Formats: sequence, C-alpha cells, structure tokens
Amino acid sequence: MATKPIDRLLFAQGGDCFFCKQPLAKAEASLEHLVAQTHGGKDNDENLVVCCKTLNTLLGRMSLKEKLEVILKQRGKFHCPAKTAAPENLPTKTVPTKPVSPQPKPGTPLAIVVDNLKKRGSSLPTSVDKLLNTIKTTLEHQKLDASLAEKLLVQLRSNKWISVTADRVSYSLPGGKAIVQTNTSQ
Ligand SMILES: [Zn+2]
Repeated sequence: MATKPIDRLLFAQGGDCFFCKQPLAKAEASLEHLVAQTHGGKDNDENLVVCCKTLNTLLGRMSLKEKLEVILKQRGKFHCPAKTAAPENLPTKTVPTKPVSPQPKPGTPLAIVVDNLKKRGSSLPTSVDKLLNTIKTTLEHQKLDASLAEKLLVQLRSNKWISVTADRVSYSLPGGKAIVQTNTSQ
C-alpha cells in the first residue's frame, strides 16, 4: 500500500511532532528536511521528520547546526513556537508525562472522535469492530485519513477513555460520565 511520506512518518512518530512530542493533527503537520535540500539534504525518510508547521517555517532555512542550536536551547522541554508557552514557574519534575485524565487537544482527530462519541449519548458502539468503523466514518466525514482509526483506538485505550473486556467496549470519555455497556447477550 502506497503511503505519503507525511502519513508514514507521522505514524512512525506515534502521531506526535518530532520535536515537541505533542500530538500532531495532520492539518498542522509538515515535512521537515533535517538537512535542508538547499544544503544537499536528501528527500527520503532518513532525512525527513514530521513536525508542527510553524516550527518547520522557523527551521526551514537553517543549517543542521543552527537547528541543533535551537533544539538544544530548549533544554529538554521543547515547545513549538505556535504552542502557547508553558508557565515558566512550573517545575518540570511534577509534570506527569502522561496525565491520568487528559483532555484531547481541540481540533485534533482524537478530539473530533471523542466529541463524536460524546454526542452519541448512551448509544455507543459496543464492540471494538463497531467502534473502529464509527471512528473511520467520523474521520471520513471530517475529510481526515481513515487509516488513523486504529491509532486513535489505541490512544483512546491508553488515555483510559475506553476499556475493552472480551471485545466489549466500556466508555469513560473525558468530560463525560462513565458509560459501562451491559452485556445483554448473557
Ligand atoms: Zn511541535
């Protein structure tokens, strides 16, 4: 199956920006040549990363050395320029890497899918297959890449917004009440 470099690399990066590690919506994603093509950089996966558009604009004309300088200045808490700066006084040690009950970032495919599920009230897909189809349909309606569906399913599970027992899906969507599907077939 032929994939575009941006889709392939975004998948390989776990859906996150290469630099700031924040979930990256495809609309905000852009391909960045680590060694710029004007500096002889190759147009292949080894030299390409996917990152936030604004960062790409900033890095675009820099040499690799200048880019590294920008990256190293961030000292392990890289924020892309378009993102609102994190509060300076926030001690980094107390920031959990995975918040227990995070909210999906507005506008991301994940947020779109979560919003769609929340709108369904209690009539939510009961099985993993049905949920996967629902996610795919939602993505297609939003003109997003339906192949993201499986990755979004993984994110829903890792955020504990859904749990799966014997192919039966229970929901605990962010900002919504927990909905546990009762297995009526027993
Ligand atoms: Zn970024």
